[in-house]
Amino acid sequence: MESTQPGRPGLEARARALEERHAGADRRSAFALPDGVIYLDGNSLGALPRAVPEAVADATTRQWGQRLIRSWNESDWWGAPERVGDRIGALVGAAPGQLVVTDSTSTNLFKVFLAASRMHPWRTKVLTDPDSFPTDLYVLESAARLTGFTIEQVHPEHAAERIAKLGDRLALVAYSSVDYRTGEMWDLASITHEAHRVGAFACWDLCHSAGAVDVRLDDDGADFAVGCSYKYLNGGPGAPAWLYLRREHQETFHNPIAGWQGHARPFGMEREYDAAPTISRGRSGTSPMLSLLALEAALTAYAGLAMADVRARSLSLTGFFLECLTGLGIDLPVATPAQDGRRGSQVSLRHPHGYAVVQALAARGVIGDFREPDIIRLGFAPLYVSHRDALEAAQALAEVLRDQEFEREEFSLRAMVT
Ligand SMILES: *Cc1c(COP(=O)(O)O)cnc(C)c1O
Repeated sequence: MESTQPGRPGLEARARALEERHAGADRRSAFALPDGVIYLDGNSLGALPRAVPEAVADATTRQWGQRLIRSWNESDWWGAPERVGDRIGALVGAAPGQLVVTDSTSTNLFKVFLAASRMHPWRTKVLTDPDSFPTDLYVLESAARLTGFTIEQVHPEHAAERIAKLGDRLALVAYSSVDYRTGEMWDLASITHEAHRVGAFACWDLCHSAGAVDVRLDDDGADFAVGCSYKYLNGGPGAPAWLYLRREHQETFHNPIAGWQGHARPFGMEREYDAAPTISRGRSGTSPMLSLLALEAALTAYAGLAMADVRARSLSLTGFFLECLTGLGIDLPVATPAQDGRRGSQVSLRHPHGYAVVQALAARGVIGDFREPDIIRLGFAPLYVSHRDALEAAQALAEVLRDQEFEREEFSLRAMVT
């Protein structure tokens, strides 16, 4: 049969045309990426924004080294969790005063689960996705032991029916907007709508969405949301996570880790806890200030960008990569939906030797990662990955598969972090 595939020359022309069309959201020059690397793991650890080293140097040498304790006021270290929170809020559709940068995603999930139980003392059911990121399930199970919650694991596709059945027994639905493994994006707005019809809350995990997908927390009714800052937001390894509390819940949200930093008058040093009436009640203890200031500098990479354009570029990149797979004759099963509205910012492929394939790609300078049991996960961080990168990555994959490079012994040795 005659091939209708465009092949390499056609794909090169298409890469140039698409890159031009989406040039408005290209921020490659704001990142310090090493030469010879195509970085497709920004969904796990974002690349280093050029603004960060200087900001960290200033935070250490001047703010800490010279100004010492005075920097809590002079550089407003104290207000940084809410200040940086508002910056992230602008990227996820939250008006100011509803996000605070604090703790890890795991810890913030714990806070939300416990608070939701206290806010709905007569309701005991929680709905979540069996394919959730493991920490979300572990923390929910732990919260269930403390609160008496019963967890039902229901795939997002069937959440609506189950919500209607549970009615006023349902306290909370807790779903991730993008599946970390397959990259499938779910319609959390409609799940949230259903939850609200029976009076339940919705908590969104945006770890694989924030910074890449056009999220609308306020408009789509999310009650609570959490997310990490070291993936598409490029905050650096271990950057503190964030917590969103819709304004109308801020007076009733009981932070189960009621630390002094969430107090209405932290320097009153009072014996009794009196929660701040604002988003600050999401805070517990002192923030990792150097990481927080690194994150603040990292977010300048988004300055002047509209998330709709970032999302369009992201979809163009993943869509084009899927085209390249076809064009170059790569026929691995694709775990990520081809339909734009159902795709996050990654493409996941299945291969029985997925881990070794990822290692073989890395040896060629194409960095992705592997997730059990057989997923080759390639993230397309829209700010610094180009359409040309997508084509080169597909070409490298075609060669790794053609030459069975993944069979080389050194590629099957498992490291701790995969
Ligand atoms: C990355 C990720 C986490 C990470 O949680 P940490 O507490 O930052 O380690 C949690 N949930 C999801 C869905 C993630 O993708």
